[in-house]
Amino acid sequence: MNDTLQATPAESAVTRADFDQLLVPVYAPSQLVPRSARGLWLQDAAGTEYLDLTSGIGVTSLGHGHPAVLQALQAQAAQLWHVGNGYTNEPVLRLARLLTQHTFADRAFFCNSGAEANEAALKLARRHAALRHGAARRRIVACQQSFHGRTLFTVTAGGQPKYTEGFEPLPPDIGHIPFNDIPAAERAIGENVCAVIVEPVQGEGGVVPATRDYLLALREFCDRVGALLIFDEVQCGLGRTGELYAYMGYGVEPDILTTAKALGNGYPVGAMLTREAVAASLTAGTHGTTYGGNPLAGAVAGAVVQIIAQPAFLARVREASARLQAGLQGLMREFPGLFTEVRGAGLMLGLVLAEAHRGRARDFTRAAELERLMLLIAGPDVVRLLPALVISDAEIDAALQRLRATARRFLAPAA
Ligand SMILES: *Cc1c(COP(=O)(O)O)cnc(C)c1O
Repeated sequence: MNDTLQATPAESAVTRADFDQLLVPVYAPSQLVPRSARGLWLQDAAGTEYLDLTSGIGVTSLGHGHPAVLQALQAQAAQLWHVGNGYTNEPVLRLARLLTQHTFADRAFFCNSGAEANEAALKLARRHAALRHGAARRRIVACQQSFHGRTLFTVTAGGQPKYTEGFEPLPPDIGHIPFNDIPAAERAIGENVCAVIVEPVQGEGGVVPATRDYLLALREFCDRVGALLIFDEVQCGLGRTGELYAYMGYGVEPDILTTAKALGNGYPVGAMLTREAVAASLTAGTHGTTYGGNPLAGAVAGAVVQIIAQPAFLARVREASARLQAGLQGLMREFPGLFTEVRGAGLMLGLVLAEAHRGRARDFTRAAELERLMLLIAGPDVVRLLPALVISDAEIDAALQRLRATARRFLAPAA
């Protein structure tokens, strides 16, 4: 109860229990409350150290507290934070130049999250089709088990009904097809479709890469009817697969690409990238957001992209991926009957629990925490690893050692 106007002292003690009293209960966080972190190592209030293979869900790809990113943020914070969209600013112009130089795109729109980047992409696709083809062409095709964010439009595009239940009425004219199913895509992509949205590597849906043939087929079907192809690279982009963007490894170009998560290494920023002819369908006043591409976001993201886009950096991601994947294959052999598959791409990997352990991915991550290892899940049956891309060989080996200890703990009969 607030019966005085006194501010809460910044140092007042808070605990995990306060979460259950104070927060809208849309999350069920771990009991571990992180306090500080550097690189892949994170500490709680008691000073216990954890090896972080989550990167804050694929966000801190350069590790916690990366010096160049910290420097960019501090220098910009001392200079200019925010001006509003009545003015542009130098950091965002540099960032737009970087992103367009390094990708298929020649136009960028900035926002604050992955959902907002996808919201912009879907709105652009609808408007582009309305201007070019008339009102009848407005259907959006997305994949089952996909995830595109939590705004009403993007959560409806996501192919997981449990996330839309109770939020009806949903935006109409959005259909879902099974992922990696070419005949189903061909049937669904007709003259009424304005866009197809797909994750080149499904993240939340279980760490499932698209096949090259599938993305090539989507490209062909979209071109056939004049629909836009949107790649949601919010999770798989920015070096995660060992390519700057996953589409580059596939050799299939989208019309619109969305990127966020790792773009700010923890500073909230997202972007939608596209070509001039498509971008022209959004004119002044048709879309926007207050913070989108503000100087702080621009400076931080600029530092991030400059590092990740270096060929030597991406080569090291591929090398680290090979070492980690080999180690995970070894883990599978050491504990037969625990996992059936290591899948994914680059440093976006999933361990698929065997039939006997279905539904227990969360139990596995809880066991890992007792071994001071932080892991993610991707649905109830998949343990997901998204380590920072700067993970060293020694850290990969330490992670594998802790994973073995976790597997022993997980498989031990309950006391
Ligand atoms: C996380 C994620 C989003 C949503 O990003 P937010 O920043 O949480 O809005 C969208 N698409 C994919 C593929 C994601 O992994």
